[in-house]
Amino acid sequence: MFKHFKNMEFTVRVDRPDPNFAVKLLEQFGGGNGELKAAMQYLIQSFGCNDPRIRDLMQDVAAEEFSHFEMVGECIAMLLGNVDKVPKDFAAPYMAILGGGPTLTDSAGNPWTGAFVNATGDLITDLQSNLAAELRAKLVYERLLQQTDDPGVKDMIRFLLSREEAHAASWSEAIAANPNKGVMKDFGDSTFSHMYMDLSQGPGNAFGPWNQNNFQVLTNPQEKFGSLPQYNHDAPAQTPNEFGTEYHDNQRNNPNYPHPQHHQ
Ligand code: MN
Ligand code: MN
Repeated sequence: MFKHFKNMEFTVRVDRPDPNFAVKLLEQFGGGNGELKAAMQYLIQSFGCNDPRIRDLMQDVAAEEFSHFEMVGECIAMLLGNVDKVPKDFAAPYMAILGGGPTLTDSAGNPWTGAFVNATGDLITDLQSNLAAELRAKLVYERLLQQTDDPGVKDMIRFLLSREEAHAASWSEAIAANPNKGVMKDFGDSTFSHMYMDLSQGPGNAFGPWNQNNFQVLTNPQEKFGSLPQYNHDAPAQTPNEFGTEYHDNQRNNPNYPHPQHHQ
């Protein structure tokens, strides 16, 4: 059930209209890293999430993102001001002529789309998508903060930026609290899954934990395998932890669901 309160999560204050900054702020209204994307992503993920504690997290954050969507929308409307007074060379005619307020677009006028939403039903995949979404949102707010001198608008952006930071920390903790769940389960292919293909060679060839910890570095896989590596030749075609026919994707996030039997 949704219930709406007239007061906003953070009271938005705008000193004077600034239609050009209103257009930039649209990025966080109807853009690919914006508030509606976040709200819809977390809410839709929650429908398919069968871990009750993570479902609650998704619903808490989704509800707050809708509150942010409201704040940004109200702020854009105030920044746009009286549509009769926007400059004739205003960069976003769609907003002044058709919207008269925020349009559900990004800052370039591209319409919002459900294609922005990442929801797979896999616990870790979804949580990782959410962490990345928060980092991108925070980054956009950091850049937007440099583009306005309005103290009230700056305060709102600082608040939103801080909240995305908090959300990023919560998604990170949720990821850390759910090791080896969902798709993070080891598929059991110890051959190919522990190889690093060092295919970009020459000056600048670098080494670090991403190719040194538990990796076998191959500088010329064709030489090692005689051709491109193949299953049933260089690694067994069927792996010990591979999900068998009894595997049900919609149950694997459930902490009480037993591990699938090894395929015989
Ligand atoms: Mn937000
Ligand atoms: Mn957020």
